Amino acid sequence: MQIAVGGCLAQKDRGEIVRRAPWVDVVFGTHNLGSLPVLLERARHNESAQVEILESLEVFPSTLPTRRESVYAGWVSISVGCNNTCTFCIVPSLRGVERDRRPGDVLAEVRALVAEGALEVTLLGQNVNTYGVEFGDRLAFGKLLRACGEVEGLERVRFTSPHPSSFTDDVVAAMAETPNVMPSLHMPLQSGSDRVLRAMRRSYRQARFLRIVEGVRERMPDAAITTDIIVGFPGETEADFAATLDVVREARFASAFTFQYSKRPGTPAAEPARPGAEGGRAGALRAAGRPAGRGVVVRAPCAGGPRPRGARRRGRGPQGRRDRPAQRAGPRQPAGALRRARRRRGAPPG
Ligand code: SF4
Repeated sequence: MQIAVGGCLAQKDRGEIVRRAPWVDVVFGTHNLGSLPVLLERARHNESAQVEILESLEVFPSTLPTRRESVYAGWVSISVGCNNTCTFCIVPSLRGVERDRRPGDVLAEVRALVAEGALEVTLLGQNVNTYGVEFGDRLAFGKLLRACGEVEGLERVRFTSPHPSSFTDDVVAAMAETPNVMPSLHMPLQSGSDRVLRAMRRSYRQARFLRIVEGVRERMPDAAITTDIIVGFPGETEADFAATLDVVREARFASAFTFQYSKRPGTPAAEPARPGAEGGRAGALRAAGRPAGRGVVVRAPCAGGPRPRGARRRGRGPQGRRDRPAQRAGPRQPAGALRRARRRRGAPPG
């Protein structure tokens, strides 16, 4: 067995990893995933750890050979890197500025996945709705969603993650008017306090975030909107946290990933000596966001692969994570088929 460590933190802590874990064979960064097979081979041959970090992207990751876990659902990278500078995030300093793939390349990969049996595709980027900034088309993401709507055999299109400050009406319209784009939106809030958002260097404010949520629900009443929230950001006061709770109540998120702020060395927010204060806020957040819940019937694809007798299969419904009906496959219900299933009681989508 060989061990490789890669990604943002591997890039930042390259020397430390080899020093503290001498059994690691390869350390690689965010720009050279494609070199991994060669580095593993070299580590085997030389019997020493190989560390290779490149400063810019060599090959777009999606163009590398892939072995997919499921043939029914696939991820397609549309961009890498980010032009924002959120003070808690290490991505801008390690992944660099946004690089966009050409729409033709993205669509060719989507079509290839569908030809291999995919029903569902998730478009992936650090900041999907600024897609096009590199080739100067501000409407490129909405156009890409509509183009995915034309791909025959593609039943579901999702994307992650959009940034609230770049969320434009043309994207909401493309979502609402393209039948295979799912009514689900994962849009990170991070904080409901304008003061904290400013300190995080996130350029939208509470009112704008709520306006987007309202606009999405106007066009797609059943949309399941999910989010990310950080509690205990340095300097966050009770009043700031109360503002976050207000947004959680008003936005009625279907679900949220909530994080206690933790210092990430090398980021601007880690510099001040002010500690983050959590003080039970994560629990209060969960209580505020607890869904009222109602059961709905959704259609979700069964996962593929052999299944032990009596095991249950799971899939995602149109609204995403919260719609995960358990399904039993059988002779008349092959893997990959879209089946009607009752969703467990969960967050209200509207
Ligand atoms: S938008 Fe996302 S990826 Fe970019 S800096 Fe902010 S948190 Fe990091």
